[in-house]
Amino acid sequence: MKVLVINAGSSSLKYQFFESETGEVLAKGSAERIGLDDSSIVHTRCGEEKVSIDVDLPDHKEAMEQVLGMLTSEKYGVIHSMMEIDAVGHRVVHGGEKFSSAALITPSVKAAIRMCIPLAPLHNPPNLTGIDACEAAMPGVPQVAVFDTAFHQTMKPRAYMYALPYELYDEYRIRRYGFHGTSHRFVAERAAEMLGRPFEEVRIVTCHLGNGSSIAAVKNGKCIDTSMGLTPLAGVCMGTRCGDIDPAIVTFLMEKEGLDMKGINNVLNKKSGVLGVSGVSSDFRDLEDASGHGNDRARLAIDMFGYQCKKYIGAYAAAMGGIDAVVFTAGIGENNWAVRRDIVSGLDFLGVRMNEDKNKGLRGVETDLSADGSTAKILLIPTNEELAIARATEQIVSSAGGEG
Ligand code: ADP
Repeated sequence: MKVLVINAGSSSLKYQFFESETGEVLAKGSAERIGLDDSSIVHTRCGEEKVSIDVDLPDHKEAMEQVLGMLTSEKYGVIHSMMEIDAVGHRVVHGGEKFSSAALITPSVKAAIRMCIPLAPLHNPPNLTGIDACEAAMPGVPQVAVFDTAFHQTMKPRAYMYALPYELYDEYRIRRYGFHGTSHRFVAERAAEMLGRPFEEVRIVTCHLGNGSSIAAVKNGKCIDTSMGLTPLAGVCMGTRCGDIDPAIVTFLMEKEGLDMKGINNVLNKKSGVLGVSGVSSDFRDLEDASGHGNDRARLAIDMFGYQCKKYIGAYAAAMGGIDAVVFTAGIGENNWAVRRDIVSGLDFLGVRMNEDKNKGLRGVETDLSADGSTAKILLIPTNEELAIARATEQIVSSAGGEG
């Protein structure tokens, strides 16, 4: 099945076009600066050089049409007509409590995504715009929503409830949702394969560590806990986000610094994390450079990140009654060997022991990093959210076709 995967942001629209059975990427790219000056489409046909074409993109609908134009063009395309697109899979950030799996998009599914806008005001509106643009440009082609929150919907109330007045949950659905679910699920399933055991029988801690980082406890094929919360601000400290802090700091800072809601949100989301602590950068490559040149605050930021991740692994091993694997994925998890080493150091008591020679310098290659005799495996597994979306889309469309 040929599946187009769409990740629509407020001014961009990223796409990957898959042959979903084989996982082959036929073409990929993004429409950039939609609705702004100097908009363009950056497009790569499998195995060829990237091309960048300046084109006016007043809105997402026009961007979608231009993307379809690229996919079907003689010069850059991979199909003759858009009739060859069997389905479209959309990344949707927030599915609230309504979606525990991907869903075929219908008017009622769109309404449910719209209902979740208060929970993800920056993400769900452009996701919906992307869906509308595809519906307009490709009428009749099945569209599927794949939610970042869906995999975490198996958490029990004791894991997802906050100790706030229960009425606030009733009124606003304030609870832990968790994010990066498509990635956590993808790498956890692969980890079970690498362990040679059924997904339904293993206890895995998945560490998705990128600009945004989250950690999940996956027991017997289900997510039982995760570090992000109502929003992606919670959990371990991140590039620019603070992660878990004492909630009283929020009102303290608002008073002391005279910040309004926008101001405090800006501090917690954009000025904190390893950028805020180091004063150097949100990027771990810059932090390591600076630390190597004796910058103590950069060193502190790296240490804080590793320590916080380590604590989540311990907590989740306790929550699952043991641990069979720790998985590292995403930009930092896949590429930063020193951070991986620091996170698992001292976890021998859990049976987590690393082969440091194998780990050192390793980037982006699926590898078992555990030492001989380690009862839990340490696995580097590159994530592929787009492929996971393509596969989920294929599954939904095939089963809907079967029912019809
Ligand atoms: P996002 O959450 O935006 O998708 P990424 O998963 O790309 O973020 O992660 C960004 C982080 O990953 C940065 O801190 C960066 O230092 C690290 N990173 C990404 N690629 C590499 C690389 N090739 N080598 C070392 N670090 C990398």
